[in-house]
Amino acid sequence: LSFLPKPKLPLLKSHNSTNVPSLLPTTLPNPTNRHPFSQTLHSITSLKPYILSHRRPILLGWLCSLVSVYSLAKTVTKMGKFSAFIGNLDPAAFRNEGLAVGVLVLARLVAVYWQQAFLWDAALSAVYRVRAEVFEKFLGSDLGFFEGSGGVSSGDVAYRITAEAADVADTVYALLNTIVPSALQLLAMAAQMLSISPLLSLISALVIPCMALVIVRLGVKLRKISNKAQLTIAALSAYLNEVLPAILFVKANNAELCENARFRKFAHADLSAHLEKKKLKALIPQITQIIYFGVLFLLCAGSLVFSRGTFDSCDMVSFVTALVFLVEPIQGVGKAYNELKQGEPAIERLFELTRFKSMIKEKPDAVDLDRVTGEVKFCDVSFKYGDNKPYVLNGLNLHIKAGETVAFIGPSGGGKTTLAKLLLRLYDPLSGCILIDNHSIQDVKLTSLRRHVGLVSQDITLFSGTVAENIGYRDLMTNIDMKMVEDAARTANADEFIRNLPEGYKTNIGPRGSSLSGGQKQRLAIARALYQNSSILILDEATSALDSRSELLVREAVQRLMENHTVLVIAHRLETILMAKRVFLLGDGKLEEVTRSSLLAGQHVS
Ligand code: ADP
Ligand code: MG
Repeated sequence: LSFLPKPKLPLLKSHNSTNVPSLLPTTLPNPTNRHPFSQTLHSITSLKPYILSHRRPILLGWLCSLVSVYSLAKTVTKMGKFSAFIGNLDPAAFRNEGLAVGVLVLARLVAVYWQQAFLWDAALSAVYRVRAEVFEKFLGSDLGFFEGSGGVSSGDVAYRITAEAADVADTVYALLNTIVPSALQLLAMAAQMLSISPLLSLISALVIPCMALVIVRLGVKLRKISNKAQLTIAALSAYLNEVLPAILFVKANNAELCENARFRKFAHADLSAHLEKKKLKALIPQITQIIYFGVLFLLCAGSLVFSRGTFDSCDMVSFVTALVFLVEPIQGVGKAYNELKQGEPAIERLFELTRFKSMIKEKPDAVDLDRVTGEVKFCDVSFKYGDNKPYVLNGLNLHIKAGETVAFIGPSGGGKTTLAKLLLRLYDPLSGCILIDNHSIQDVKLTSLRRHVGLVSQDITLFSGTVAENIGYRDLMTNIDMKMVEDAARTANADEFIRNLPEGYKTNIGPRGSSLSGGQKQRLAIARALYQNSSILILDEATSALDSRSELLVREAVQRLMENHTVLVIAHRLETILMAKRVFLLGDGKLEEVTRSSLLAGQHVS
């Protein structure tokens, strides 16, 4: 994942704001060393399928641009005719011409409005599809991308999918608005100018290469600056994403000053990068304007020198009007090119997210297990998190009978959670296999496997929403069975406190369940696992955050579970551990069964 920027957050040694460590990625990722043009082509190619899936609004938008260019060309001719009225006013003809111009201007106005509306529809819909696809791919990718030192920052990803995708929409719109509408207008105006005076048109044509040269040169620079600006804002977003949920920790550690300083460091880097970008963007139209006026001057001089006698005032007015409207599409092309150059980093960074490949693959002939008894076997399972990392599990063998409860104890970092992750197939073992009811879990459909294995994780995850939605999460998009929710809550000894909440099961528990106590959260998590009705249940330190009374309540709950589930309890408290028939100590990659007498003698429990 070296192509992803990793805002590193080193430990802070000092709270002195003048001594804030540099937290921004020092190297800008430059995944490709393509030539600027092939880079542009590459960006357009990756967007093409998404754009082309919305042909209707694009075609309608372009049709509108045809109407608008036609009315513009007609207006230009009519403007020339107006100058014939100077000193020779025919009121009736003047009124008719005026009326015609009015209708043409109105037609253009309506056509331009619909052209933009249709093309925005196409651009935003294309980006909606990219977003949806990126998110889907991302959700489907392996847990390993998110965890560990090389894991991607959720803030960075969130930023790419929200703000950067919005930049991509601007780029797509600029492209669509240029390809046909600007080309049409350019051609129409050029034809008009050519028909009036080929020579003067030729002189004016000098404007095009000059402008193109400037625009291309500045475009390359703009791309670099945009890339930098995007990285600084992504880093800011990643930082906020990490620090905001940790507000309690920050306050408890008196770290407001330090975090303010860190925030300013990120925000200031973003300020500098964006200011540089805005300045360059302000410069580009000025330079094109200078070129434009230069050509206009050349033109006037040319008309005086070469066209004496062959050129009347009507022609002059038409010609200059056409020239004014010729520059508009040229500037439009330049703007689209700049927009594309500016959007390129965003496009790349967005599509980068689609390149995540899942190593955990479902076999084409994977079986859907309808029911399982809950027998679990680990056969010679070895696992480590990376090539140069130590083995977390090393040749582990374990046989848990259906309906049995076993407990795992061991030092922190001993591999207990890893064991749970392997059973859920969030990672695949390096060697050996894991069987459920004598089916290797690699031969079972992932959805089926994860339906039969329920997990109450060490880090409880609750979403903002009602209690019922959190317990019935499995059926969130279908129909939550309230009776099952209440049964699960009763078994988890959570029913009583839920009923005491202001709106009972309909109470909103706030972001990440922040309105609940640790013990209440844990009981909700247990209720949720029960609602899933899996045959195998893993309780990963599910009783760690409980006071003695709640622990008793949860132990009662676990006791009830044990009657009809295979339960793997990872725990520290002796009372909880002793509920299991067998107890295993996990450490140094090895599993060792522990006798009750040694447990009671206090040899293993801390
Ligand atoms: P336990 O749950 O027993 O406390 P874990 O299974 O969480 O232990 O972790 C076992 C070991 O694997 C620890 O040394 C931990 O640092 C390491 N580890 C856990 N998750 C990852 C990860 N995603 N990437 C790299 N190493 C990890
Ligand atoms: Mg753990």
